[in-house]
Amino acid sequence: MPIWGVVNQKGGVGKTTTAVNLAAGLAKAGFRTLLVDCDPQGNATTGLGLDKGKAESTLYEVFVDAVENAENPTVIRSAITEIADNLWLVPATLDLAGAEPILLNAVGKELILRDALEPVRNDYDWILFDAPPSLGLLTINILSAADGVLVPMQCEFYALEGLSQLLKTIDIVKRRINPRLHVAKVLLTMFDSRNRLTFQVTQEVRDYFGDKVAKTAIPRNVRLSEAPSFGAAAVTCFPTSRGAEAYLEFVKEVVAECAVH
Ligand code: ATP
Ligand code: MG
Repeated sequence: MPIWGVVNQKGGVGKTTTAVNLAAGLAKAGFRTLLVDCDPQGNATTGLGLDKGKAESTLYEVFVDAVENAENPTVIRSAITEIADNLWLVPATLDLAGAEPILLNAVGKELILRDALEPVRNDYDWILFDAPPSLGLLTINILSAADGVLVPMQCEFYALEGLSQLLKTIDIVKRRINPRLHVAKVLLTMFDSRNRLTFQVTQEVRDYFGDKVAKTAIPRNVRLSEAPSFGAAAVTCFPTSRGAEAYLEFVKEVVAECAVH
């Protein structure tokens, strides 16, 4: 059962769009999928149409519970909200910004997310984490709980900037905490075939990551940016748009490869 973190500390590169559409696409393909919104911005939560005020509990309460009731955490089950057939979400709100100080004082502060999910992980075929744009303790918790990292990269001039810091962090977490951790996929996002720079960046990313780069690139497509205001993934509300079709193709690619491994 794959557990992937969608991680890149650069802001606005398409992490949430990728997490939401991959999760909804996997659910459509029949996989029981849990998406955990680990970003205090809560974009995956709103993007899937969950009213932030209405969530029974959120990832913040899950963290508090896991720290305070380490022997018997129970909040995770009430935080899991059904979104659609085969699709569940642990929502996040701005409260989550207050989780870092709580985690900082906990024993095994990097492992709280992994611990909190332990009672439910076997209920799902796929678990995905949407990361915030930083390499702080929330992201370290994701890297400690995941087995694969999916790195979305925007096809722009500065795409590779900050990448060495990300890879170094993945390497340290792998060595010290989570030996299974690896870069599972690199996904090119906001691909614009009319832009010559796009090809140059694509080539650099492929030279660097080889066959880890997904064959499917996600084009720049307005439907992908409109879908969140409809409270659903583009693969659900605009399935025939170019952006959604690319994400569905990416889902196929991921499913085929995970069946091989
Ligand atoms: P953050 O770092 O703030 O969490 P992010 O990496 O999660 O950002 P997104 O929120 O997915 O990035 O995307 C940033 C913006 O770009 C959003 O407004 C989103 O709707 C838009 N966007 C993402 N992918 C595409 C695309 N392929 N085509 C057009 N717009 C896109
Ligand atoms: Mg995001």
